[in-house]
Amino acid sequence: MSKLPGKIKSLRFILVGMLIVILAVLTGCSPKKAAVEEPTIHDSAAKVEWSEAVDPGDSKMKLISGNVRYVSGKLKAKDLSATKRKDLSENGQKPFAIVLTCSDSRVSPELILDQGLGDLFVIRTAGNVVDPIAIGSIEYAVEHLHTPLIMVLGHEQCGAVKAAIEAGEGKVEGNLGAIVEKIRPSVEKAKAAGATGVDLPEKATEENVKAVVKELEEKSPIIRDALGQGTLQIIGAKYDLDEGRYSSIR
Ligand SMILES: [Zn+2]
Repeated sequence: MSKLPGKIKSLRFILVGMLIVILAVLTGCSPKKAAVEEPTIHDSAAKVEWSEAVDPGDSKMKLISGNVRYVSGKLKAKDLSATKRKDLSENGQKPFAIVLTCSDSRVSPELILDQGLGDLFVIRTAGNVVDPIAIGSIEYAVEHLHTPLIMVLGHEQCGAVKAAIEAGEGKVEGNLGAIVEKIRPSVEKAKAAGATGVDLPEKATEENVKAVVKELEEKSPIIRDALGQGTLQIIGAKYDLDEGRYSSIR
């Protein structure tokens, strides 16, 4: 009987180890791999941390573990001290991931991915669409900061996607029209795939994320080169507003 607690302890250690290995395998795949990782809520996963990301796989794991912490309510302590600011100011930034997401106030990347000052390079536009300025911002982080991962993050109940659906065939005037025009093809694609009713905006959101990932690959030689060299990966994901978790849609 006296040996039993030790056995249970080592069994638990093995199980935790296996889970970490499985997570690492699921998230460390090639840039072209389709529909992969989905954050899994588990205490041991929340403990997976690295002092510094060195490759796209590490960055993906940091995002996953950060979102797991957020969902479970076990947020890490953030260093917002004067010392940290001084360090970032003197030594420069080295964000481990670029996050392109919607401007929606419910989708703040540093909060939902539980990351600190200097961790994420963030670009936000309504509907997470890109133009030359947004692509240029991403290129800056890829080329000059050597950030190894781009996450394109759409979200549930996106107002920009709904606006594109409501616009139908009609023209939307002004600057908002530019956003609607960007999303419209994804709405058409979702409709062609048979999406209707409440499913339509959700399916269109997923199509929009895929379209943005494709646009980044096609329109940026800098991104394309980094992808080719294996120093960069792009993932597409969708955030669930009430559950607080994201899932891969690519
Ligand atoms: Zn949105």
